[in-house]
Amino acid sequence: MLLCAAVGLSVAFERVRAHARPAYTSPPRQRPSPVRSDTNPEPIHANTVIVLVIDGIRWQEVFTGVDRSLARIHGFAGTPRTASELVPNLHLLRTEAGAAVGAPGVGHTLRASGPVYRSLPGYMELLSGRPAEYCLSNRCGSVRSPTLIDRVGEHAPGAAALFGSWPHLIHAAALQPERGMVSTGRSGGTNLELLYRSQLRASLRVRAAAAGPAPSKGDFRGDAFTAALALDYLNHERPRLLFVSVGEADVWGHANNYGAYLAALQRADAFAGELLAASTRLNRAGHRTTLIVTTDHGRDRRAREHGPGIPESGRVWAIAGGFGVNARGDVPLEQPRTLSAIAPSVLCLLGLGAAEAGLPELFSC
Ligand SMILES: [Zn+2]
Repeated sequence: MLLCAAVGLSVAFERVRAHARPAYTSPPRQRPSPVRSDTNPEPIHANTVIVLVIDGIRWQEVFTGVDRSLARIHGFAGTPRTASELVPNLHLLRTEAGAAVGAPGVGHTLRASGPVYRSLPGYMELLSGRPAEYCLSNRCGSVRSPTLIDRVGEHAPGAAALFGSWPHLIHAAALQPERGMVSTGRSGGTNLELLYRSQLRASLRVRAAAAGPAPSKGDFRGDAFTAALALDYLNHERPRLLFVSVGEADVWGHANNYGAYLAALQRADAFAGELLAASTRLNRAGHRTTLIVTTDHGRDRRAREHGPGIPESGRVWAIAGGFGVNARGDVPLEQPRTLSAIAPSVLCLLGLGAAEAGLPELFSC
C-alpha cells in the first residue's frame, strides 16, 4: 500500500519538476553537528515532515485561480486564469500527488480559530495545535503553549528547523526556540551557526542583508532568500521537521496590488514544486516524507485585508502529499476543523503523537 502510494507519488513528483525553478547549486557537503543534549531522548522515527505556509492566501486563488472581477478592477486581462495555470504545483499536489481540505463546496470548512484573523495568532495555532485566543494582534508577545519546535526538539535536539520571511514569526516559534534552528527575518533566530555554516547559505545571508526588507519593511527577508535557505538546509542538514513561511503575497495584498499578490503566490507555488522534488529525492533515499502546504489566514473579497470583523478572512485550506497521505483530490471535512488540527497531524506523522485531534480526512498515521 505504502509502496504503491510512494511510486505514484514519485511519478507525480517527476511531473512537478517541470514546473519547478532550477535548484540552487549545492554547496560542499559538511559534517552535520546537531545540537547536543545531555538527556537521552527517545529515538525519533526517520520520518520527515515539511510544512510550507504561504502567508495570507485565499482559498479562491488556490482552488479556482485568478479572480476575474478583481483582475478587471485592477486592469489586467488575467492570464493565467485557472488554478492549474496559476498554481500548477499546488494543483498537482492537490489533484494527483495528494489531497486537499477546504475546497469550496466540499464538506465542512477549515478555519483559523481567531478570534482575530491575523498572522501571529494564526502561526501560534499552526505551531502549537491550540487556538491562541490570548493573541489579538501581531504584537501580543510570545506563544504560551509548546510548539512543534519544542516537541520535536525535545526528542531530537536540533532536528526541527523553522524559517520565516516575517521577523515576528519568532514569537510563535517555540517556548524554547533553542531546541531547534530558527531563522526569522534577515537576522532573527536561534542556533543560526547551524544555518550559516555552509558557504552557500552564508553567502545568501550576505545577499539578503544587502537586498533589504523589500517588499516589506524592518527585518523582513525576501521570500526568495527564505526559500533558498530552507531548501538548502533541507537537502544538506536533513531536519526531521522543516517549517517554512513565505510572506510577500500578504504584503502585496495589503498594498491593494492584486497582480503582485498573484505573482508572489506563483513564486511560492514554484517553491512548493522544489519542496516536492526534494521530497521525492528524500523518499528515494529511504525517508518517509510528507509535504503539507497551508496558510495562516485568508483575506476579504478584495483580497486585501484580514482580521477582526472580516469573518471570511478566517477561512483557510490545506494540501498534503507523501507519506501518510492516502487520500486523493478534494476531500470533504467530516466536521468543521481549525488550524489547531495541523500540529497533531505533524506529530503523528513523525511518530511522536496519536492521530486524535488531527486531520483524519487527510492523514493516516
Ligand atoms: Zn497580513
